[in-house]
Amino acid sequence: MMLVENLTVHYGGIKAVNGISISVPAGKIVTLIGANGAGKSTTLNAISKVIPMKSGTILYCGEDVTRLGYRQMVEKGLVLIPEGRHVFPDMTVMENLKIGAYLRRDSQVRADIDHMHELFPRLAERSNQLAGTLSGGEQQMLAVARGLMTKPRLLMMDEPSLGLAPLIVKNIFSIITGLNREEGLTVLLIEQNAHAALKIADYGYVLETGTVGLEGSGAELLKNTQVREMYLGKTN
Ligand code: ATP
Repeated sequence: MMLVENLTVHYGGIKAVNGISISVPAGKIVTLIGANGAGKSTTLNAISKVIPMKSGTILYCGEDVTRLGYRQMVEKGLVLIPEGRHVFPDMTVMENLKIGAYLRRDSQVRADIDHMHELFPRLAERSNQLAGTLSGGEQQMLAVARGLMTKPRLLMMDEPSLGLAPLIVKNIFSIITGLNREEGLTVLLIEQNAHAALKIADYGYVLETGTVGLEGSGAELLKNTQVREMYLGKTN
């Protein structure tokens, strides 16, 4: 579904991403793991056109989308849920959900809001509450739900579990796998929680200072000694 080749991103003189190539097949969950500063967020931000890339190509559904802008990417169903809880704090939960659908022209928006309320019952209860007054976990649920309201075909998520309690992390991960299995949503996921990410991923890439150090199926990487020692905190 998406093929990124030789992606390079520089911040001034800093080479944050240095020739990364990744493939995301349709209907699969792919994860990027790696140490702090390895270039994971930079990679997703460049693919979704939040920041400019220096060189490289991005093919999406057979089309060269390298030169398209952020809005055109969203219209094509390539959507990023960025790190941190980016909700509109002075708008209600419902208004945040509707904003997620602002580029859509179809008639399914109301049905999709109902679907989000089924997935996240807490958001239904809090529909008229200002998003800025939600708890951290609730704001993260809203950020995920708002991203889903754009009707993504390929959803990129930057650390959806950041700062969340274990039970909410479990909930968010089971929603991601459910959408993948039941609705065929393709997912590219970044996670500090490498174990949780590799457990649900079909394929994973380990980034090391701006390059791909290692890659393999989620199951292979979970068993890999180097990955276990460096990212899973296990010595055997
Ligand atoms: P983390 O797991 O800590 O979120 P990451 O793998 O997502 O890390 P990035 O945020 O992509 O890493 O950062 C990659 C490198 O680029 C880091 O060395 C970082 O300091 C640098 N960097 C990121 N954003 C900027 C910026 N706006 N200006 C300058 N350098 C930046």
